[in-house]
Amino acid sequence: MVALSSQGSRISAGSRGVCGLLRSRPLVPYREGPLAYEPTVVCVCNRKAPRWISWSDDNPGRRYYRCSQARTDGDCGFYVWYDPDHTTFMKNLLLDLRNAVWELRSKAEEIAELKEINDLLSSENKEKVLVVMAQQKDLEERSQQLALLANKISSRSSCSLFCCGFVMLLVGLFFGLMLGAM
Ligand SMILES: [Zn+2]
Repeated sequence: MVALSSQGSRISAGSRGVCGLLRSRPLVPYREGPLAYEPTVVCVCNRKAPRWISWSDDNPGRRYYRCSQARTDGDCGFYVWYDPDHTTFMKNLLLDLRNAVWELRSKAEEIAELKEINDLLSSENKEKVLVVMAQQKDLEERSQQLALLANKISSRSSCSLFCCGFVMLLVGLFFGLMLGAM
C-alpha cells in the first residue's frame, strides 16, 4: 500500500461537457460495500476506513482507503492506495470507459429533461385546448342568442311598420271624410 500526499478524488474533473452531478455517482456499482472488506484498515482516528474506487484522471479504477469522516470537520486526512498503479494502457482504457459512461449518463439526463419538458408542454396544451373549446362553445351560444334577438327585433319592426301604416290609413280616411263633409 502506498500513502499519497495529494487527495485524489473519485469525482475529480477531467472530461468535457459532463456536469458534476453525474460524476459524483459511482461509475460502476460496487460489488462489495466500501466497508465490506477484510482485513480491516483503520485510519488515524481509529475507525475502519472505507475502501473506494478512484475515477480521477491520474488513477482511474484504482481502489483506495480514505477516512470515513472525509470532507467533514472530523477528517483525519487518511488516504492510502490499495491497488498498485495501472499500466498506461490500462489507465487509458479505463479513462475511455469512464468518459463513455459519463457521456451516456449525460445524454440520459438530457433525454429525461427533454421528456419532462415535453410532458409539461403537452399537459399545458391539453389545458389550452380545453379552454379554447369552452370559449368556442360560449361563442356559439352567444351567437344563437344574438340570432334569436335579431329575429325578435325584425318581427317587432315589421309589426310596428304594419301598425304605422294602419294608423296612416285611418288618418287619411279621417281627413278624406272631413274634406268630403266640407
Ligand atoms: Zn480518520
